[in-house]
Amino acid sequence: MEQILPENWAFMHFAMIFCITCAQMLVVYVLSDSSNPPAGLGLYTVYFMAALLGWIAATLQQGPNPPMAVDVPSVASILNSYILFMAAGQRAAMTRGRLPLGIMCLLACLCVFFLPPADMFLVQIGSASLFFAGTGILCVWRAWTQHNIGDGIIAFAAMMMIVGMPGAAFQQLFADNTAQAQSIAFGVHSSAYALVAIGFLASVLIEYQQHLSHLATEDPLTRLLNRRGLEDALHISLANASRHDLPTAAIAVDIDHFKQVNDSFGHEVGDRVIRQVADFLERMSRGSDVVARTGGEEYLLVLPNTGLDAARVLAERIRAAIGDHPLLVDNQRIPVTVSLGIASAGGEVDLDTLSQEADRALYLAKRGGRNRVASVESKPLHLSTATVKD
Ligand code: GH3
Ligand code: MG
Ligand code: MG
Repeated sequence: MEQILPENWAFMHFAMIFCITCAQMLVVYVLSDSSNPPAGLGLYTVYFMAALLGWIAATLQQGPNPPMAVDVPSVASILNSYILFMAAGQRAAMTRGRLPLGIMCLLACLCVFFLPPADMFLVQIGSASLFFAGTGILCVWRAWTQHNIGDGIIAFAAMMMIVGMPGAAFQQLFADNTAQAQSIAFGVHSSAYALVAIGFLASVLIEYQQHLSHLATEDPLTRLLNRRGLEDALHISLANASRHDLPTAAIAVDIDHFKQVNDSFGHEVGDRVIRQVADFLERMSRGSDVVARTGGEEYLLVLPNTGLDAARVLAERIRAAIGDHPLLVDNQRIPVTVSLGIASAGGEVDLDTLSQEADRALYLAKRGGRNRVASVESKPLHLSTATVKD
């Protein structure tokens, strides 16, 4: 293969950057049209567009034309690193440090008018490393808390900059090799840019995938599990109960006369009541218990390693806690009562059978006058003596 001239390399490098950015922008354009665009999309878009301008300036400087009067690539590098820091902050919902770093970015950019190119290069290296360090911290934090490897890839790009840029500064300051220093900075910057593009796409795709899997197992109104989520969550505890012959209890909960709540206060208030009852159930159950919304105003609690008597105590506490005080929604006092049906089984448990038995007990509680607890235990049936409060 013939040797390719250096300026041709610069243009080929730019073609690669251009293709990456175009593909990136296409995805960003499609995502921005969705009803729920990903966090940080706006600033990341600004980053990719501004970076492209910076790469154009850097590429032009490699050509045979005389160098630009102002060191545009250095300024672009500083500005883009700061925009990336802001984009990572927006995505991680953390805006601390923007102002002081913004002032530093402005001062670093203004240096271009006062410093000779060699010193400006060092300012560029220092600022970009600082902003990428901030980006790295934000992305590591987001990757850790959101379990999103895409942010981890951006953090890796930041780490490359933090390690590579001092290497370039070393060549400039101690080896007095400006060409080598600039090559290192150029190479590290382009690799980091490609990794940021890949990392951002991966982060958005993983976020969508997580969102979809939540939708499949989570009730959007109350954030409780739905029926499928319940089965997934109980997989291990039910296997454990079967192996060690432990009891499992289920409590079916239904809000009494809920249609009247909707009719009297409106559907919105009805939704808030459904959410408040869900909060009550979550607060009153143990960490090992699983709470799900199984219908409009119906819930199911499954209590691993719990017998019928203990479940009855909890059910009675829930009934009293909800029924004794009206719920407060938008400063309106809404009297709400619930009926509860309990079933329990030992050893190997079929969740469908257990919940059907709890429903059967719930039906008894309704028939017994509502605002009460009923239970079934391998037949015969038992109806508690809880009285209805006026
Ligand atoms: P019962 O004491 O026998 O349980 O009477 P009920 O009125 O609570 O029961 P029914 O099953 O007759 O009515 C349930 C109502 O719940 C009907 C439906 O409009 C309402 N509903 C179902 N899902 C939702 C929801 O997500 N939000 C709101 N606000 N209402 C809902
Ligand atoms: Mg009801
Ligand atoms: Mg119902």
